[in-house]
Amino acid sequence: MRLRNIPIAKETVMTSPYCINDPNAYKGRWQEAFPLALPLSVEIGMGKGRFLMELAALHPENNYLGIERYSSVLLRALQKMEEFPLSNLKFICMDASDLTEVFDKNEVSRIYLNFSDPWPKERHAKRRLTSHQFFERYDRVLKEDGQVEFKTDNRDLFLFSAKEIPVAGWRLDAITYDLHHDEKMNEGNIMTEYEEKFSSKGNPIYKLVASR
Ligand code: SAM
Repeated sequence: MRLRNIPIAKETVMTSPYCINDPNAYKGRWQEAFPLALPLSVEIGMGKGRFLMELAALHPENNYLGIERYSSVLLRALQKMEEFPLSNLKFICMDASDLTEVFDKNEVSRIYLNFSDPWPKERHAKRRLTSHQFFERYDRVLKEDGQVEFKTDNRDLFLFSAKEIPVAGWRLDAITYDLHHDEKMNEGNIMTEYEEKFSSKGNPIYKLVASR
């Protein structure tokens, strides 16, 4: 997903009205980053932003923040936002491991993790966005009734996540091993860029929803 050597990416991200460059300054007052004070949902590892743009357009009753670590990837989302601006969607270029420096307790209503990097080596397990270390971070920023939604085509990462989440003290509210053939869980599903790519190859898509 990382697109290398896009020299204008950093500068474009820094100067874009759709990006928040000093996210730590908004800790505890994220409502001020948007025209309307609405519940806040966050996608971590948003890539080129297709999922979040569609979601934000469909749900003007929420505010959305997309987090992406690489400016070269985020650039694609900014280009789309210039064509179809949405007042309830902003982006942050940061590593999600700093999540608790950016969001206060109870500040986030929902977290989306879509096709997160698998980090297959055991010694890198704590970098997986569904590791217990990341769920500890989610615990510190999510509202009491907040949920984490996770989709992937990576079976090993999904099986790891389904085991890891209860270890982190969370419960699985819903789980499917074939989202696109699960009538209930697929209702209103918005495809991400990766989801379209992998499901068109015939890969099943796995999804779970977790809460405390
Ligand atoms: N969610 C998109 C989709 O489903 O099409 C993109 C999936 S891509 C495999 C994973 C993305 O997550 C990459 O763009 C990567 O840079 C980003 N990412 C991975 N770990 C991250 C982290 N710790 N903080 C922020 N972004 C991260």
